[in-house]
Amino acid sequence: MARLSEHFNEKEFLCRCCGAGKGLIHPHLVIGLEMLRDLVKRPITVNCGYRCPKHNAEVGGVPNSYHVQGYAADIHVSGLSPYELAGQAARVPLFFNGGIGIYPERGFVHVDIGKKRRWRG
Ligand SMILES: [Zn+2]
Repeated sequence: MARLSEHFNEKEFLCRCCGAGKGLIHPHLVIGLEMLRDLVKRPITVNCGYRCPKHNAEVGGVPNSYHVQGYAADIHVSGLSPYELAGQAARVPLFFNGGIGIYPERGFVHVDIGKKRRWRG
């Protein structure tokens, strides 16, 4: 099992449909998630990291989604609301300068290291 950092394994980030994404998870995404874990002091669950183009299309992602590039993760933390988690994510410079999307009904937060964007799903 390939360890990407102290608390994250590559397996957690691989495509949910086919296991693609090995070697494609951007190190800055993982560094940002480690920083976020330090802030919230709890484990972060990765719901979705890398997506192959087929899986991305199936879940309604835009074709150039950062998930397809290994720049993005949808995450949740037990005991924290998506709003609380997004607030903490904004304290991580890599995510502050990237994308943070809140999905309150679905109970997760999207973070990425792409262009600076904010939205509510
Ligand atoms: Zn796939």
